[in-house]
Amino acid sequence: MGDKKKKKSKSKRNPNADHILASRYVHEWFLGGAPGPPLSHDSDEFLPPLPRYKAAERIVFEFHSHSKHSDGFLSPTALVERAHRNGVKVLALTDHDTMAGVSEAVQAGHKFGIKIIPGVEISAIFSSREGSGAEESVHVLAYYGSCGPARYEELERVLSHIRDGRYDRAKNMLLKLRNLKMPIKWENVVKIAGSGVAPGRVHVARAMIEAGYVENLKQAFSRYLYNDGPAYAKGSEPSAEVVVQLICHTGGVAVLAHPWALKDPVSVIKSLKTAGLHAVEVYRSDGKMDEFSDLASIHDLVKIGGSDFHGRGGHDESDLGSVNLSVQTVFQFLKLARPIWCNAATEILLSFAADPSDMNLEHLTRFRKLKIQSGIPTDNNNKDVLSMCLTLWLTSEERETAEIEAIRLKLSDTQCC
Ligand SMILES: [Zn+2]
Ligand SMILES: [Zn+2]
Repeated sequence: MGDKKKKKSKSKRNPNADHILASRYVHEWFLGGAPGPPLSHDSDEFLPPLPRYKAAERIVFEFHSHSKHSDGFLSPTALVERAHRNGVKVLALTDHDTMAGVSEAVQAGHKFGIKIIPGVEISAIFSSREGSGAEESVHVLAYYGSCGPARYEELERVLSHIRDGRYDRAKNMLLKLRNLKMPIKWENVVKIAGSGVAPGRVHVARAMIEAGYVENLKQAFSRYLYNDGPAYAKGSEPSAEVVVQLICHTGGVAVLAHPWALKDPVSVIKSLKTAGLHAVEVYRSDGKMDEFSDLASIHDLVKIGGSDFHGRGGHDESDLGSVNLSVQTVFQFLKLARPIWCNAATEILLSFAADPSDMNLEHLTRFRKLKIQSGIPTDNNNKDVLSMCLTLWLTSEERETAEIEAIRLKLSDTQCC
């Protein structure tokens, strides 16, 4: 009883305790995996005294953004530069169905002191099980640690299948438009999408405007390209449940994007939670969406949000860093994500230790080139690679696990002398 009383009065004396702990956790993660200025002169084994965090600058997170590698308008470098101007310190690049922009973003992030969360927004289809047979498009965000996805090939196989499906889908839409006496050249759509970018409905709509068939995007969609419309064609997206399972399987955090755009968010969230969904977007630049926040609470899902910035340039577009996320919100996300990312990093490093080949080395340097003395991996280089990855990917505390120690030993064992 006495103990309880003591605890109560202690928490009353320090109403900011939760805030300070959350802030400390976020700062530790932010600084832990990247070479940056230390918070204090203390050894990094010990955290600085609490009062320092009261004055600490808030770390602005942006969890949802697009570059030219999908339907955004800015290059990853220009996107990072803009994020920097807006005061963003952590930026997730979440292009549609591709991670092709991540390594450029990481490079630019290094220059501007921004930590990049490698992400991707995966297109999927949700089919209602209620017997209605209704289908709808669902976007699932995947967030990975600095090491990127474990089992990258499995993720990339699915993403490239979706991207290929987009080409077929765009071609089918052009076929339908031709039958509607609105021929459009394939080259025009490809040119609008940009080199190597899988075309989407927006790109077809822009080609329709250029050809003079419609006046604006809205008209293109409301007359021809809407779901099941006269020029609509289906893509070849996997089911949303499969996508969530794939994200979990590859060491990512699975988050349902913009649930307010769904016809049946209740069924989608319920079904995806069963598949392993971790979180839901509920925050926007205009505040918290109570309806979806309540749904997330019911299903014990973490709540986050991002601007979904594309760089279109309109006044109605939410800018990078415009979604106000409290330190508690970011803390809840990181508390969930860090063990998942840590396991993925361990898995990637274990497979490198078992086979330190060039191919496995590529898995370590996918998003960030490491400074290796010579191009040929040697035993010493392998140990350097390991220590560089550990410094870049994990905090000092995360580096001290039995698995990581086993990886260190394994790489030492392979030394010839
Ligand atoms: Zn989306
Ligand atoms: Zn998006």
